Amino acid sequence: MRSPVIATPDEQLRPEPIADPTTAFYWEGAAAGELRVQTCDACQHVQFPPNVVCENCRNDHLGYRVSSGRGTLYAKTVMHQAFHPAFAESLPVALCLVDLDDAPGIRLLTNLVDVDAAQVETGAALRVVFEQRGASVLPQFTAAGQGGGR
Ligand SMILES: [Zn+2]
Repeated sequence: MRSPVIATPDEQLRPEPIADPTTAFYWEGAAAGELRVQTCDACQHVQFPPNVVCENCRNDHLGYRVSSGRGTLYAKTVMHQAFHPAFAESLPVALCLVDLDDAPGIRLLTNLVDVDAAQVETGAALRVVFEQRGASVLPQFTAAGQGGGR
């Protein structure tokens, strides 16, 4: 039997990402409605998560490009117990791994939202949507055929 999760007002706030100089472009992109992926200026390698150097050639001149936000579901899991009190009201929460269609090799760990995760099979077409969370915006994914989002 699951014990009740009691949240104080502070705990009701979902955790927000903490940007640093390496990841700032990613979070700024999300706030602008863009899914940005890091690229190497020297060899054009694309990598995720962002790093301080290119994982291919070790160059430290890195930029980004904007992904279409289209992807394919690689795997999913559905959580029925809150790992943080702020998520207790949102159960079940679906986590997923998404392969970006236009950035081969990039696999994002994200949430599958606005859809019944049980109805979304591995290999399904997904698209990015953006969740406003406090002062931050988080890229999330939903079934490509789902309406809404921005
Ligand atoms: Zn490189």
